[in-house]
Amino acid sequence: MQTNFSAAQLADPHVAESEKILRKCVHCGFCTATCPTYVTLGNELDSPRGRIYLIKDMLEKGRPADKEIVTHIDRCLSCLACMTTCPSGVNYMHLVDHARAHIEQTYKRPLLERLTRAMLAFVLPYPGRFRAAVKLARLGRPLIGLFEKLPALKPVAAMLKLAPSSIPPASPLASPGVHAGQGTKRGRVAILTGCAQSVLDPAINEATVSLLTRLGVEVVVPEGEGCCGALVHHMGREDQALASARQNVDAWTRAIDQGGLDAIIITASGCGTTIKDYGFMLRLDPAYAEKAARVSALAKDITEYLAALDLPEPVRKPGTIVAYHSACSMQHGQKITRQPKELLTKAGFVVREPREGHLCCGSAGTYNILQPEISARLRDRKVKNIEATGAEIVATGNIGCITQIASAAKVPVVHTIKLLDWAYGGPRPEGVSEESLVAAE
Ligand code: SF4
Ligand code: SF4
Repeated sequence: MQTNFSAAQLADPHVAESEKILRKCVHCGFCTATCPTYVTLGNELDSPRGRIYLIKDMLEKGRPADKEIVTHIDRCLSCLACMTTCPSGVNYMHLVDHARAHIEQTYKRPLLERLTRAMLAFVLPYPGRFRAAVKLARLGRPLIGLFEKLPALKPVAAMLKLAPSSIPPASPLASPGVHAGQGTKRGRVAILTGCAQSVLDPAINEATVSLLTRLGVEVVVPEGEGCCGALVHHMGREDQALASARQNVDAWTRAIDQGGLDAIIITASGCGTTIKDYGFMLRLDPAYAEKAARVSALAKDITEYLAALDLPEPVRKPGTIVAYHSACSMQHGQKITRQPKELLTKAGFVVREPREGHLCCGSAGTYNILQPEISARLRDRKVKNIEATGAEIVATGNIGCITQIASAAKVPVVHTIKLLDWAYGGPRPEGVSEESLVAAE
């Protein structure tokens, strides 16, 4: 694509980066076929190619964002299916991240929207605040019907609907410390305890630590780590996202200096995609660029790490049919497609892949709160495809997808690591019946 940026504009490294990306796009439109919002809404401006044109126009003219571009960029899920499809290697992720930051700096949203977004950015990345908010949400439940009738309050209704009726107590594993591996030492890793996931389902990291230590891997929960920053990054809140990134880079650098790390284990693929991008996000910060690149290189999804470990034979062989839902951040963001399925198969599960596996379930960070209608359409389409597999359990590697799919599916939706932990001798995942797992014990 031809671009017309001035030399002065290109002196801004963010613009220069976006210009490089724009020039790679050849307008072929292949990406439209796999874009969930184009497939759902049928509007070129809700396709990757349409959004790329809108972003190009905004950046080239150096103008503030307007309502039109905000509407279409807000509808983008950042699912990155377009990047998997694009034959020209267009880095849509970095382009849309830049566009979102530009929108945040130049566009004044309506008051209620601003308040909703500010509240999400204030609450979601902090487990203590999030825990309190989930408890508070119970009181607001009776008002869901009323909020749904008022367009500006639909995100609040969506939030109340998604809030679970109860949450488990905080896990002691979320506290800083070292969990020694059993037997011969096979590695030393740090684990991201995370934010929303540690509140909604602390058993995910418990299963991870339990399985890793049983396999001989020492697991460190470093002092000072926090939210990865993805949630606010996707809202264009660059300063907040970069502050989170720096905090984690510091925490993990200390852990590296104190005893070395073979990997930084991440159990939510949405976080994994962002942490693997820390090197890019902090490239212009001389104090952090190198450390951030080192952290990104060490970041591994738990299935990526386990696949390289050469696991022993599982102690249980269930034979249960499992539908594997590949989160967008897993398959498109990190290009991890094979390992989770192979690990589940090796552990004795019969893995089935739903049709249209490339399409997002509509969770996408805060998308199911901020765009509840499109999100619900994508969720229902996903659940229909999953149910058509005849699976007894759904496995996936991202807490957002678990919450989203479980809100409409009839079968339990669990994190992949919980099924693996069980197959290798751990406890039965909560919500999964004994009958569905005992087939070939
Ligand atoms: S990130 Fe997803 S929703 Fe956004 S343009 Fe690409 S394919 Fe479409
Ligand atoms: S597939 Fe790639 S090159 Fe083709 S229009 Fe989409 S982004 Fe541009």
